Amino acid sequence: LIVLGIETSCDETAASIVKDGKDILSNVVASQIESHKRFGGVVPELASRHHVEQITNVVERALEEANVTFKDIDAIAVTEGPGLVGALLVGVSAAKAIAFAQQIPLVGVHHIAGHIYANRLITEMKFPLLSLVVSGGHTELVLMEKHGSFKVIGETRDDAAGEAYDKVARTLQLPYPGGPHIDRLAHEGEPILKLPRAWLEEGSYDFSFSGLKSAVINTLHNAEQRGEKISPENLAASFQASVIEVLTEKTIRAAKEYGVNQVLLAGGVAANKGLRSSLTAAFDSLPDIELHIPPLHLCTDNAAMIAAAGSMLYKLGKRSNLDMNANPGLDIERI
Ligand code: ATP
Ligand code: MG
Ligand code: FE
Repeated sequence: LIVLGIETSCDETAASIVKDGKDILSNVVASQIESHKRFGGVVPELASRHHVEQITNVVERALEEANVTFKDIDAIAVTEGPGLVGALLVGVSAAKAIAFAQQIPLVGVHHIAGHIYANRLITEMKFPLLSLVVSGGHTELVLMEKHGSFKVIGETRDDAAGEAYDKVARTLQLPYPGGPHIDRLAHEGEPILKLPRAWLEEGSYDFSFSGLKSAVINTLHNAEQRGEKISPENLAASFQASVIEVLTEKTIRAAKEYGVNQVLLAGGVAANKGLRSSLTAAFDSLPDIELHIPPLHLCTDNAAMIAAAGSMLYKLGKRSNLDMNANPGLDIERI
Protein backbone atom coordinates (compact mmCIF):
# COMPACT_ATOMS: atom_id res chain seq x y z
CA LEU A 1 0.00 0.00 0.00
CA ILE A 2 1.55 3.27 -1.15
CA VAL A 3 0.00 6.46 0.17
CA LEU A 4 0.69 10.08 -0.71
CA GLY A 5 0.19 12.31 2.34
CA ILE A 6 -0.48 16.05 2.08
CA GLU A 7 -0.42 18.46 5.04
CA THR A 8 -1.09 22.22 4.93
CA SER A 9 -3.00 22.90 8.17
CA CYS A 10 -0.70 25.61 9.49
CA ASP A 11 2.65 26.93 8.35
CA GLU A 12 4.32 23.85 6.88
CA THR A 13 3.62 22.76 3.29
CA ALA A 14 4.32 19.05 3.38
CA ALA A 15 4.02 15.96 1.21
CA SER A 16 5.24 12.44 1.84
CA ILE A 17 5.10 8.93 0.41
CA VAL A 18 4.61 6.16 2.96
CA LYS A 19 4.58 2.44 2.23
CA ASP A 20 2.39 0.01 4.20
CA GLY A 21 1.52 2.74 6.70
CA LYS A 22 4.96 2.69 8.30
CA ASP A 23 7.88 2.97 5.86
CA ILE A 24 8.76 6.52 4.84
CA LEU A 25 9.87 6.66 1.20
CA SER A 26 10.02 10.47 1.20
CA ASN A 27 9.08 13.25 3.60
CA VAL A 28 9.25 16.78 2.20
CA VAL A 29 8.51 19.76 4.45
CA ALA A 30 8.64 23.37 3.26
CA SER A 31 8.54 25.49 6.38
CA GLN A 32 7.29 29.08 6.29
CA ILE A 33 8.69 29.97 9.70
CA GLU A 34 11.06 32.60 8.26
CA SER A 35 8.15 34.52 6.67
CA HIS A 36 6.04 34.55 9.82
CA LYS A 37 8.89 35.26 12.23
CA ARG A 38 8.82 39.05 11.82
CA PHE A 39 5.12 39.08 12.75
CA GLY A 40 5.77 37.00 15.88
CA GLY A 41 3.29 34.31 14.87
CA VAL A 42 1.53 32.68 11.95
CA VAL A 43 -0.32 35.14 9.68
CA PRO A 44 -3.16 33.07 8.14
CA GLU A 45 -3.39 34.99 4.84
CA LEU A 46 0.35 34.73 4.31
CA ALA A 47 0.28 31.02 5.15
CA SER A 48 -2.37 30.31 2.48
CA ARG A 49 -0.41 32.19 -0.14
CA HIS A 50 2.80 30.31 0.65
CA HIS A 51 0.96 26.98 0.51
CA VAL A 52 -0.37 27.86 -2.96
CA GLU A 53 3.15 28.72 -4.12
CA GLN A 54 4.73 25.60 -2.64
CA ILE A 55 2.23 22.76 -2.93
CA THR A 56 2.92 21.60 -6.51
CA ASN A 57 6.66 21.64 -6.01
CA VAL A 58 6.47 19.86 -2.65
CA VAL A 59 4.25 17.06 -4.02
CA GLU A 60 6.50 16.62 -7.07
CA ARG A 61 9.58 16.43 -4.85
CA ALA A 62 7.92 13.84 -2.61
CA LEU A 63 7.17 11.62 -5.65
CA GLU A 64 10.65 12.14 -7.06
CA GLU A 65 12.51 11.39 -3.84
CA ALA A 66 10.42 8.25 -3.31
CA ASN A 67 11.06 7.28 -6.93
CA VAL A 68 7.36 6.76 -7.67
CA THR A 69 4.76 8.29 -9.99
CA PHE A 70 1.03 8.91 -9.49
CA LYS A 71 0.46 5.47 -11.10
CA ASP A 72 2.05 3.83 -8.03
CA ILE A 73 -0.13 5.67 -5.50
CA ASP A 74 -2.99 3.65 -3.96
CA ALA A 75 -4.52 6.47 -1.93
CA ILE A 76 -4.11 10.16 -1.16
CA ALA A 77 -4.35 11.17 2.49
CA VAL A 78 -4.87 14.85 3.22
CA THR A 79 -5.34 16.87 6.40
CA GLU A 80 -9.00 17.83 6.43
CA GLY A 81 -8.87 19.72 9.76
CA PRO A 82 -8.44 21.17 12.31
CA GLY A 83 -6.23 24.10 11.37
CA LEU A 84 -6.39 27.43 9.53
CA VAL A 85 -9.23 27.18 7.03
CA GLY A 86 -7.43 29.00 4.21
CA ALA A 87 -4.32 26.88 4.75
CA LEU A 88 -6.24 23.60 4.92
CA LEU A 89 -8.10 24.49 1.71
CA VAL A 90 -4.90 24.50 -0.32
CA GLY A 91 -3.97 20.93 0.65
CA VAL A 92 -7.54 19.69 0.33
CA SER A 93 -7.94 21.28 -3.12
CA ALA A 94 -4.63 19.87 -4.32
CA ALA A 95 -5.48 16.39 -3.02
CA LYS A 96 -8.91 16.48 -4.64
CA ALA A 97 -7.48 17.67 -7.96
CA ILE A 98 -4.92 14.85 -8.02
CA ALA A 99 -7.49 12.27 -6.88
CA PHE A 100 -9.87 13.35 -9.65
CA ALA A 101 -7.30 13.64 -12.43
CA GLN A 102 -5.46 10.41 -11.56
CA GLN A 103 -8.49 8.43 -10.33
CA ILE A 104 -6.91 7.71 -6.93
CA PRO A 105 -9.00 7.12 -3.77
CA LEU A 106 -9.02 10.05 -1.32
CA VAL A 107 -8.93 9.86 2.49
CA GLY A 108 -9.45 12.90 4.75
CA VAL A 109 -7.30 12.81 7.90
CA HIS A 110 -7.67 14.55 11.26
CA HIS A 111 -4.46 16.50 11.93
CA ILE A 112 -4.17 15.27 15.52
CA ALA A 113 -4.78 11.66 14.48
CA GLY A 114 -1.81 12.32 12.20
CA HIS A 115 0.35 13.55 15.08
CA ILE A 116 -0.53 10.38 17.03
CA TYR A 117 0.17 8.12 14.02
CA ALA A 118 3.66 9.63 13.70
CA ASN A 119 4.34 6.88 16.24
CA ARG A 120 3.31 4.20 13.73
CA LEU A 121 6.36 5.25 11.74
CA ILE A 122 8.60 4.13 14.59
CA THR A 123 6.67 1.29 16.24
CA GLU A 124 3.77 -1.15 16.08
CA MET A 125 0.76 0.16 18.05
CA LYS A 126 -0.44 -1.97 21.00
CA PHE A 127 -3.90 -1.24 22.37
CA PRO A 128 -5.24 0.07 24.60
CA LEU A 129 -2.86 2.98 24.31
CA LEU A 130 -2.69 6.52 25.59
CA SER A 131 -1.33 9.41 23.59
CA LEU A 132 -0.19 12.67 25.11
CA VAL A 133 -0.74 15.22 22.34
CA VAL A 134 1.11 18.47 22.95
CA SER A 135 1.19 20.85 20.01
CA GLY A 136 0.75 24.48 19.05
CA GLY A 137 -3.03 24.26 19.21
CA HIS A 138 -3.75 21.16 21.31
CA THR A 139 -2.96 19.59 24.66
CA GLU A 140 -4.89 16.37 25.11
CA LEU A 141 -4.75 12.89 26.52
CA VAL A 142 -6.24 10.58 23.90
CA LEU A 143 -7.21 6.99 24.67
CA MET A 144 -7.24 4.49 21.80
CA GLU A 145 -8.86 1.07 22.20
CA LYS A 146 -8.18 0.14 18.57
CA HIS A 147 -7.06 1.64 15.26
CA GLY A 148 -9.16 4.61 14.21
CA SER A 149 -10.86 5.06 17.61
CA PHE A 150 -10.00 8.17 19.61
CA LYS A 151 -11.38 9.17 22.99
CA VAL A 152 -10.28 12.46 24.53
CA ILE A 153 -10.06 11.88 28.29
CA GLY A 154 -8.54 15.27 29.07
CA GLU A 155 -7.78 18.49 27.24
CA THR A 156 -6.70 22.04 27.85
CA ARG A 157 -9.32 24.48 29.06
CA ASP A 158 -7.42 27.49 27.76
CA ASP A 159 -4.01 27.71 26.10
CA ALA A 160 -2.31 24.75 24.48
CA ALA A 161 1.15 23.84 25.78
CA GLY A 162 2.86 25.08 22.61
CA GLU A 163 0.85 28.29 22.70
CA ALA A 164 1.99 28.89 26.29
CA TYR A 165 5.60 28.27 25.26
CA ASP A 166 5.28 30.71 22.36
CA LYS A 167 3.64 33.41 24.52
CA VAL A 168 6.21 33.11 27.30
CA ALA A 169 8.97 33.22 24.69
CA ARG A 170 7.47 36.40 23.29
CA THR A 171 7.48 37.95 26.76
CA LEU A 172 11.17 37.10 26.97
CA GLN A 173 11.62 38.65 23.50
CA LEU A 174 12.68 35.38 21.93
CA PRO A 175 11.92 34.70 18.25
CA TYR A 176 8.90 32.72 17.00
CA PRO A 177 8.33 29.83 17.46
CA GLY A 178 9.52 30.14 21.01
CA GLY A 179 9.29 26.53 22.20
CA PRO A 180 12.80 25.46 21.19
CA HIS A 181 14.30 28.70 22.60
CA ILE A 182 12.64 28.25 25.99
CA ASP A 183 13.74 24.62 25.98
CA ARG A 184 17.35 25.65 25.37
CA LEU A 185 17.29 28.45 27.98
CA ALA A 186 15.63 26.15 30.53
CA HIS A 187 18.62 23.83 30.37
CA GLU A 188 20.95 26.71 31.21
CA GLY A 189 18.92 27.79 34.25
CA GLU A 190 17.55 26.45 37.53
CA PRO A 191 13.81 26.10 38.31
CA ILE A 192 14.06 28.25 41.44
CA LEU A 193 11.17 30.67 40.83
CA LYS A 194 7.85 29.79 42.39
CA LEU A 195 5.24 29.30 39.66
CA PRO A 196 1.82 27.64 39.91
CA ARG A 197 0.91 24.13 38.79
CA ALA A 198 -2.64 23.80 37.45
CA TRP A 199 -3.75 20.40 38.79
CA LEU A 200 -7.45 21.41 38.54
CA GLU A 201 -10.07 19.28 40.35
CA GLU A 202 -8.92 16.04 41.87
CA GLY A 203 -8.88 13.27 39.27
CA SER A 204 -9.19 15.65 36.33
CA TYR A 205 -7.14 14.95 33.22
CA ASP A 206 -7.76 18.43 31.87
CA PHE A 207 -5.02 21.01 31.59
CA SER A 208 -4.75 24.77 31.96
CA PHE A 209 -1.74 26.88 31.08
CA SER A 210 -3.04 30.44 30.98
CA GLY A 211 -2.57 30.96 34.74
CA LEU A 212 1.03 29.82 34.47
CA LYS A 213 1.61 32.11 31.49
CA SER A 214 0.19 35.08 33.45
CA ALA A 215 2.33 34.18 36.46
CA VAL A 216 5.43 34.31 34.27
CA ILE A 217 4.42 37.70 32.87
CA ASN A 218 3.67 39.03 36.37
CA THR A 219 6.95 37.74 37.75
CA LEU A 220 8.81 39.65 35.02
CA HIS A 221 6.80 42.86 35.42
CA ASN A 222 7.03 42.88 39.21
CA ALA A 223 10.78 42.43 39.07
CA GLU A 224 11.03 45.20 36.49
CA GLN A 225 9.08 47.59 38.73
CA ARG A 226 11.35 46.82 41.65
CA GLY A 227 14.29 47.48 39.37
CA GLU A 228 15.45 43.88 39.72
CA LYS A 229 16.64 41.65 36.94
CA ILE A 230 15.26 38.15 36.59
CA SER A 231 17.45 35.58 34.93
CA PRO A 232 15.66 34.51 31.71
CA GLU A 233 17.31 31.11 32.09
CA ASN A 234 15.82 30.59 35.56
CA LEU A 235 12.44 31.87 34.44
CA ALA A 236 12.45 29.52 31.44
CA ALA A 237 13.55 26.63 33.66
CA SER A 238 10.82 27.38 36.22
CA PHE A 239 8.13 27.68 33.53
CA GLN A 240 9.25 24.48 31.85
CA ALA A 241 9.37 22.63 35.18
CA SER A 242 5.74 23.54 35.87
CA VAL A 243 4.54 22.46 32.41
CA ILE A 244 6.46 19.19 32.49
CA GLU A 245 5.49 18.25 36.03
CA VAL A 246 1.76 18.53 35.26
CA LEU A 247 2.02 16.79 31.86
CA THR A 248 4.07 13.93 33.28
CA GLU A 249 1.93 13.38 36.38
CA LYS A 250 -1.38 13.36 34.50
CA THR A 251 -0.03 11.10 31.77
CA ILE A 252 1.23 8.54 34.30
CA ARG A 253 -1.98 8.62 36.30
CA ALA A 254 -4.12 8.13 33.16
CA ALA A 255 -1.85 5.39 31.83
CA LYS A 256 -2.25 3.46 35.09
CA GLU A 257 -5.98 4.09 35.46
CA TYR A 258 -6.75 2.91 31.91
CA GLY A 259 -4.26 0.04 32.06
CA VAL A 260 -2.66 0.90 28.74
CA ASN A 261 0.13 -1.02 27.04
CA GLN A 262 1.70 1.99 25.42
CA VAL A 263 2.07 5.71 25.88
CA LEU A 264 2.76 7.65 22.68
CA LEU A 265 4.04 11.21 22.75
CA ALA A 266 2.81 13.40 19.88
CA GLY A 267 2.82 16.98 18.58
CA GLY A 268 5.40 19.73 18.24
CA VAL A 269 6.01 20.14 21.98
CA ALA A 270 7.04 16.46 22.03
CA ALA A 271 10.30 17.84 20.64
CA ASN A 272 10.90 19.34 24.09
CA LYS A 273 14.03 17.83 25.63
CA GLY A 274 12.86 18.36 29.20
CA LEU A 275 9.51 16.66 28.55
CA ARG A 276 11.16 13.75 26.73
CA SER A 277 13.55 13.07 29.58
CA SER A 278 10.92 13.54 32.30
CA LEU A 279 8.55 11.04 30.65
CA THR A 280 11.38 8.63 29.91
CA ALA A 281 12.50 8.69 33.55
CA ALA A 282 8.93 8.31 34.84
CA PHE A 283 8.10 5.33 32.58
CA ASP A 284 11.43 3.63 33.29
CA SER A 285 9.96 2.63 36.64
CA LEU A 286 6.79 1.24 34.97
CA PRO A 287 8.11 -1.70 32.93
CA ASP A 288 4.61 -2.85 31.87
CA ILE A 289 4.00 0.33 29.88
CA GLU A 290 6.03 1.10 26.76
CA LEU A 291 6.79 4.76 26.15
CA HIS A 292 7.43 5.84 22.55
CA ILE A 293 8.66 9.23 21.41
CA PRO A 294 9.06 9.97 17.70
CA PRO A 295 12.21 11.71 16.45
CA LEU A 296 11.97 15.51 16.33
CA HIS A 297 11.18 15.82 12.61
CA LEU A 298 8.15 13.54 13.04
CA CYS A 299 6.88 15.48 16.09
CA THR A 300 6.46 18.81 14.32
CA ASP A 301 4.06 19.09 11.37
CA ASN A 302 4.85 16.75 8.48
CA ALA A 303 2.95 14.73 5.89
CA ALA A 304 4.42 11.31 6.71
CA MET A 305 2.24 11.24 9.83
CA ILE A 306 -0.80 12.13 7.70
CA ALA A 307 0.05 9.34 5.27
CA ALA A 308 0.47 6.92 8.20
CA ALA A 309 -2.93 7.80 9.67
CA GLY A 310 -4.46 7.82 6.16
CA SER A 311 -3.09 4.33 5.45
CA MET A 312 -4.78 3.01 8.57
CA LEU A 313 -8.10 4.72 7.71
CA TYR A 314 -7.86 3.44 4.13
CA LYS A 315 -7.40 -0.12 5.43
CA LEU A 316 -10.43 0.41 7.67
CA GLY A 317 -12.40 1.28 4.53
CA LYS A 318 -12.62 5.03 4.87
CA ARG A 319 -12.99 6.93 1.59
CA SER A 320 -13.66 10.64 1.17
CA ASN A 321 -15.67 12.12 -1.68
CA LEU A 322 -14.61 14.92 -3.95
CA ASP A 323 -17.06 17.15 -2.07
CA MET A 324 -14.87 16.87 1.04
CA ASN A 325 -14.21 20.31 2.46
CA ALA A 326 -11.60 21.78 4.79
CA ASN A 327 -13.03 21.58 8.30
CA PRO A 328 -11.22 23.79 10.84
CA GLY A 329 -13.40 22.43 13.67
CA LEU A 330 -13.11 18.71 12.87
CA ASP A 331 -13.75 16.54 15.97
CA ILE A 332 -11.33 13.62 16.52
CA GLU A 333 -13.96 11.57 18.36
CA ARG A 334 -16.28 11.66 15.37
CA ILE A 335 -14.02 10.65 12.49
P1 ATP B 1 -1.75 21.76 16.05
O1 ATP B 1 -1.01 20.53 15.74
O2 ATP B 1 -2.37 21.74 17.39
O3 ATP B 1 -2.68 22.16 14.97
P2 ATP B 1 0.62 23.10 15.23
O4 ATP B 1 0.56 22.12 14.11
O5 ATP B 1 0.85 24.53 14.92
O6 ATP B 1 -0.68 22.95 16.12
P3 ATP B 1 2.95 21.73 15.90
O7 ATP B 1 3.58 22.08 14.60
O8 ATP B 1 2.61 20.34 16.17
O9 ATP B 1 1.72 22.66 16.21
O10 ATP B 1 3.90 22.25 17.04
C1 ATP B 1 4.37 23.58 17.04
C2 ATP B 1 4.55 23.99 18.47
O11 ATP B 1 5.56 23.20 19.09
C3 ATP B 1 4.96 25.43 18.63
O12 ATP B 1 4.14 26.02 19.63
C4 ATP B 1 6.42 25.34 19.10
O13 ATP B 1 6.82 26.39 19.95
C5 ATP B 1 6.37 24.03 19.87
N1 ATP B 1 7.70 23.43 20.03
C6 ATP B 1 8.55 23.02 19.06
N2 ATP B 1 9.71 22.58 19.61
C7 ATP B 1 9.57 22.72 20.95
C8 ATP B 1 10.42 22.47 22.08
N3 ATP B 1 11.64 21.97 21.95
N4 ATP B 1 9.92 22.75 23.32
C9 ATP B 1 8.69 23.25 23.48
N5 ATP B 1 7.87 23.53 22.47
C10 ATP B 1 8.30 23.27 21.22
MG1 MG C 1 3.82 24.37 12.62
FE1 FE D 1 0.43 20.09 14.27
